Amino acid sequence: RGGKAEREVPFAQPGSLTRVYCVASGKGGVGKSSVTVNLAAAMAADGIKVGVVDADIYGHSVPRMLGTADARPTQVEDMIMPPSANGVKVISIGMFTPGNAPVVWRGPMLHRALQQFLADVFWGDLDVLLLDLPPGTGDIAISVAQLVPNAEILVVTTPQQAAAEVAERAGSIAVQTHQKIVGVIENMAGLPCPHCDEMVDVFGTGGGERVAEGLTKTTGTNVPMLGSIPIDVRLREGGDDGRPVVLTDPDSPAGASIRSMAGKL
Ligand code: ADP
Repeated sequence: RGGKAEREVPFAQPGSLTRVYCVASGKGGVGKSSVTVNLAAAMAADGIKVGVVDADIYGHSVPRMLGTADARPTQVEDMIMPPSANGVKVISIGMFTPGNAPVVWRGPMLHRALQQFLADVFWGDLDVLLLDLPPGTGDIAISVAQLVPNAEILVVTTPQQAAAEVAERAGSIAVQTHQKIVGVIENMAGLPCPHCDEMVDVFGTGGGERVAEGLTKTTGTNVPMLGSIPIDVRLREGGDDGRPVVLTDPDSPAGASIRSMAGKL
């Protein structure tokens, strides 16, 4: 927007009624985006007004998972109107890049994009805004803390020791940024054997609890485990098809677990 002053981020203003959650993880591939999308879809199904910012600028994947892969935002005066799917408003850098072009930017550009996603997108009255952060503790996490200091953090990890260690590190930036960690979500917590009742602990066990305990110590405040999500083919398929499992199969173990967590937020 040319030389105009930057618009203020409405969610950071005193009196804003929107709860902002950053979904964070230590490393990629633990299911952070899948969890974000399913939490949002579950909330929308419950009548909550919810938006998602795909803040994983380099690894954007939220629109496909939500079923808006080809949607483009429209412009009304100088505001950006976000597409919506499954009752969730969503904005992603992929909506502004041609085809599947990569985003090759340095930190300040990332900050500017995030600023625009938060301030120049017409979100309307939201009850909840979820931000799907990139993995790790990079520029975007710092920008979010600056732009929306009241944003609270949800940490996603797998049960695996190595994943839990990096997740704890990513979560502990909350101490520097003075943000609240709402809790830890353990994903890919076992694969129910399709032939018997046994659980196959593909990624081990206990990672979520370890991260919650570790972050409780580092932050000096209670960081609870919010829940565990098993490995479920339907969750992966739902992501690929843009039909979140919480809607297509709400009573599947993964669907039920995510719906119960959404109810706690
Ligand atoms: P991240 O955002 O952490 O990089 P994604 O949400 O993109 O992770 O998930 C990585 C891959 O794992 C995706 O293909 C997704 O469909 C799959 N996935 C995530 N969670 C589960 C789960 N509980 N069960 C089965 N597949 C999962």
